[in-house]
Amino acid sequence: MISKINHIGIAVSSLEDHIPFYRDVLQLEFRGKDEVPEQKVIVAMFQVGEVQIELLEPTSPESPIAKFIEKKGEGIHHIAYQTDAIESDIREFISKNIRMIDEKPRSGAHDSKIAFLHPKSSGRVLTEICQVKEK
Ligand code: ZN
Repeated sequence: MISKINHIGIAVSSLEDHIPFYRDVLQLEFRGKDEVPEQKVIVAMFQVGEVQIELLEPTSPESPIAKFIEKKGEGIHHIAYQTDAIESDIREFISKNIRMIDEKPRSGAHDSKIAFLHPKSSGRVLTEICQVKEK
């Protein structure tokens, strides 16, 4: 079940160019960087209340983020909702005729499991669900 927004993903061509805005201007808490090889990105996370801002820099021209920036430019890429049951949520979405990019969860940053819904099924807002590792 979805309980809250976990993070908002923002596509950037260079983390180094954009980290200072979030860290030094907005003064959000910088939570560090993490590479996600499955998605060919490096992410930088900032905490703001319960929500994180996730800057995504592509590590390869093949990265979905590189393709997004090429088509649409830098900017908001996706909204990620936190769930405690990603597998059953995916099954439920499929039963409601939602097109999934990921019909099985894959690895996200910080040992999370993530899955993307197809933007054609979500009003062109790229939507992610994620299940974070229990601490
Ligand atoms: Zn994300």
